[in-house]
Amino acid sequence: MPTLPSLRCPGCGKAMEQITANVIPPANTYNDCLRRCPKCGIGATNAKNPAKVKFLQADPPQDSPPPKP
Ligand SMILES: [Zn+2]
Repeated sequence: MPTLPSLRCPGCGKAMEQITANVIPPANTYNDCLRRCPKCGIGATNAKNPAKVKFLQADPPQDSPPPKP
């Protein structure tokens, strides 16, 4: 099974966990990314080679409720 190595989030520096999956889909959007930092809304594309990984920003939520005080 292919394994994607763990990466460091470029936003907050936290580790993104490594992922093992049967199928590694190509990632064109944040939602396709198997390694994501929900806090920063940053996803790492599904390249096995860390040098080829690109980081994708999540789309800003369109209909999220206003933040609570
Ligand atoms: Zn982060």
